[in-house]
Amino acid sequence: MYLELEAIFNREGAAKDFDYSFPLADELIASDVHVSGSVFKKTGIVTLKAEAAYLLSAECAKCGAPIRRTETVPVEHVLIGQAETEEEEDDYDESYIVLDDLRLDLDELVGEDIFLAMPYRFLCKEDCKGLCPQCGADLNAGPCACKPATDPRWDALKDLF
Ligand SMILES: [Zn+2]
Ligand SMILES: [Zn+2]
Repeated sequence: MYLELEAIFNREGAAKDFDYSFPLADELIASDVHVSGSVFKKTGIVTLKAEAAYLLSAECAKCGAPIRRTETVPVEHVLIGQAETEEEEDDYDESYIVLDDLRLDLDELVGEDIFLAMPYRFLCKEDCKGLCPQCGADLNAGPCACKPATDPRWDALKDLF
């Protein structure tokens, strides 16, 4: 969705709400992305404040269990209507978005924020115990029958005594 922002930039106190969904192609995203929030101008500053939600579909990096849960990502940026000079543009914080024509491609911005917020791997739970490296049993379900692997260096030491 494109947001036309001229009316917001031109008037103190102006606001525009939005609430919509769009498809974002990615193997980890199993639903449309739902976005709700607003753009508003307050004390001369135009701010975008929104929340994006989608259904995550992934596998636990340790035990391989399927993970399906709703992820929410905050999307917050100060919007700048065209920078006056290039030096000025360098001064802006990374979260600032400089618009060239007071038009914002919201889908693209939300997509970028979602991918930035994605961890490089997912776990089914913080303390997932993973699978036994010997028998492959899911250790979250309890200990397996395998003996802990012995280090051959210790066996060599034992022989000395
Ligand atoms: Zn797991
Ligand atoms: Zn085992």
